[in-house]
Amino acid sequence: MAQEVECLFCKIVAGIIPVDIVYRSDEVVAFRDITPKAPTHILVVPTHHAENATELAKIAPNSLIAMFLAAGEIASVEGLAGYRSVFNTGTSAGQTVFHAHLHILGGRSFSWPPG
Ligand code: AMP
Ligand code: ZN
Repeated sequence: MAQEVECLFCKIVAGIIPVDIVYRSDEVVAFRDITPKAPTHILVVPTHHAENATELAKIAPNSLIAMFLAAGEIASVEGLAGYRSVFNTGTSAGQTVFHAHLHILGGRSFSWPPG
Protein backbone atom coordinates (compact mmCIF):
# COMPACT_ATOMS: atom_id res chain seq x y z
CA MET A 1 0.00 0.00 0.00
CA ALA A 2 1.46 3.32 -1.14
CA GLN A 3 2.33 5.76 1.64
CA GLU A 4 3.80 9.28 1.76
CA VAL A 5 6.47 10.10 4.34
CA GLU A 6 5.18 13.58 5.22
CA CYS A 7 1.45 12.73 5.23
CA LEU A 8 -0.30 12.95 8.61
CA PHE A 9 -2.78 10.17 7.85
CA CYS A 10 -0.06 7.88 6.41
CA LYS A 11 1.72 8.33 9.77
CA ILE A 12 -1.50 7.43 11.59
CA VAL A 13 -2.01 4.37 9.35
CA ALA A 14 1.58 3.33 10.13
CA GLY A 15 1.00 3.74 13.87
CA ILE A 16 3.58 6.54 14.19
CA ILE A 17 0.99 9.00 15.54
CA PRO A 18 -1.39 7.52 18.14
CA VAL A 19 -5.16 7.89 17.63
CA ASP A 20 -8.32 6.35 19.09
CA ILE A 21 -8.87 3.56 16.55
CA VAL A 22 -12.40 2.13 16.26
CA TYR A 23 -11.96 -0.09 13.17
CA ARG A 24 -9.03 -1.55 11.27
CA SER A 25 -8.62 -3.80 8.22
CA ASP A 26 -5.97 -4.19 5.51
CA GLU A 27 -7.69 -1.44 3.49
CA VAL A 28 -9.07 0.95 6.10
CA VAL A 29 -8.24 2.56 9.44
CA ALA A 30 -10.99 4.45 11.27
CA PHE A 31 -10.42 6.65 14.32
CA ARG A 32 -12.09 9.41 16.33
CA ASP A 33 -11.56 12.94 15.03
CA ILE A 34 -9.36 14.98 17.36
CA THR A 35 -11.75 17.98 17.13
CA PRO A 36 -15.18 16.36 16.83
CA LYS A 37 -17.98 18.27 15.07
CA ALA A 38 -20.68 15.94 16.42
CA PRO A 39 -21.04 13.61 19.44
CA THR A 40 -19.78 10.84 17.16
CA HIS A 41 -17.18 11.97 14.60
CA ILE A 42 -15.06 9.25 13.06
CA LEU A 43 -12.63 9.47 10.14
CA VAL A 44 -12.51 6.48 7.79
CA VAL A 45 -9.09 6.53 6.12
CA PRO A 46 -7.80 4.24 3.36
CA THR A 47 -4.43 2.63 4.06
CA HIS A 48 -3.50 3.54 0.47
CA HIS A 49 -2.43 7.17 0.06
CA ALA A 50 -4.39 9.29 -2.41
CA GLU A 51 -4.96 13.04 -2.27
CA ASN A 52 -8.75 12.84 -2.41
CA ALA A 53 -11.62 10.46 -3.12
CA THR A 54 -11.46 10.90 -6.90
CA GLU A 55 -7.75 10.12 -6.99
CA LEU A 56 -8.43 7.10 -4.76
CA ALA A 57 -11.11 5.93 -7.21
CA LYS A 58 -8.51 6.03 -9.98
CA ILE A 59 -5.71 4.16 -8.20
CA ALA A 60 -7.39 1.97 -5.58
CA PRO A 61 -11.15 1.82 -6.21
CA ASN A 62 -11.68 -1.13 -3.90
CA SER A 63 -10.61 1.12 -1.04
CA LEU A 64 -13.77 3.18 -1.53
CA ILE A 65 -15.94 0.08 -1.22
CA ALA A 66 -14.07 -0.89 1.94
CA MET A 67 -14.55 2.61 3.37
CA PHE A 68 -18.33 2.59 2.93
CA LEU A 69 -18.65 -0.95 4.28
CA ALA A 70 -16.56 0.12 7.28
CA ALA A 71 -18.80 3.18 7.73
CA GLY A 72 -21.85 0.95 7.98
CA GLU A 73 -20.21 -1.37 10.50
CA ILE A 74 -18.96 1.56 12.57
CA ALA A 75 -22.40 3.19 12.59
CA SER A 76 -23.90 -0.07 13.82
CA VAL A 77 -21.32 -0.49 16.58
CA GLU A 78 -21.68 3.17 17.61
CA GLY A 79 -25.48 2.82 17.71
CA LEU A 80 -26.12 5.47 15.07
CA ALA A 81 -29.57 5.23 13.49
CA GLY A 82 -28.40 7.65 10.82
CA TYR A 83 -25.23 9.50 10.02
CA ARG A 84 -23.80 12.18 7.76
CA SER A 85 -20.89 11.01 5.56
CA VAL A 86 -18.69 13.71 4.05
CA PHE A 87 -15.67 13.98 1.76
CA ASN A 88 -14.20 17.49 1.74
CA THR A 89 -12.32 17.85 -1.55
CA GLY A 90 -10.05 20.86 -2.00
CA THR A 91 -9.16 23.74 0.30
CA SER A 92 -12.26 25.74 -0.68
CA ALA A 93 -14.44 22.85 0.51
CA GLY A 94 -12.63 22.62 3.84
CA GLN A 95 -10.11 19.86 3.12
CA THR A 96 -7.09 20.27 5.40
CA VAL A 97 -5.51 16.80 5.20
CA PHE A 98 -4.69 15.72 1.66
CA HIS A 99 -5.07 11.99 2.20
CA ALA A 100 -8.61 10.91 1.27
CA HIS A 101 -10.90 10.40 4.26
CA LEU A 102 -14.59 9.95 4.89
CA HIS A 103 -16.07 11.84 7.83
CA ILE A 104 -18.79 9.91 9.68
CA LEU A 105 -20.84 12.25 11.86
CA GLY A 106 -23.71 11.25 14.09
CA GLY A 107 -25.47 11.72 17.38
CA ARG A 108 -27.10 15.06 16.58
CA SER A 109 -29.45 16.53 13.99
CA PHE A 110 -28.09 17.92 10.69
CA SER A 111 -29.29 20.75 8.52
CA TRP A 112 -29.81 20.56 4.77
CA PRO A 113 -28.32 22.02 2.68
CA PRO A 114 -25.06 21.64 4.62
CA GLY A 115 -23.12 24.77 5.55
P1 AMP B 1 -10.60 17.71 6.48
O1 AMP B 1 -10.65 19.11 7.02
O2 AMP B 1 -11.83 17.26 5.75
O3 AMP B 1 -9.33 17.49 5.67
O4 AMP B 1 -10.53 16.75 7.74
C1 AMP B 1 -9.36 16.53 8.47
C2 AMP B 1 -9.79 16.13 9.85
O5 AMP B 1 -8.67 15.53 10.50
C3 AMP B 1 -10.25 17.29 10.74
O6 AMP B 1 -11.60 17.09 11.13
C4 AMP B 1 -9.28 17.24 11.91
O7 AMP B 1 -9.90 17.55 13.13
C5 AMP B 1 -8.80 15.80 11.87
N1 AMP B 1 -7.50 15.57 12.48
C6 AMP B 1 -6.36 16.25 12.26
N2 AMP B 1 -5.34 15.72 12.98
C7 AMP B 1 -5.87 14.66 13.66
C8 AMP B 1 -5.33 13.71 14.59
N3 AMP B 1 -4.03 13.72 14.96
N4 AMP B 1 -6.15 12.76 15.09
C9 AMP B 1 -7.45 12.74 14.74
N5 AMP B 1 -8.03 13.60 13.86
C10 AMP B 1 -7.24 14.57 13.34
ZN1 ZN C 1 -1.21 9.71 3.16
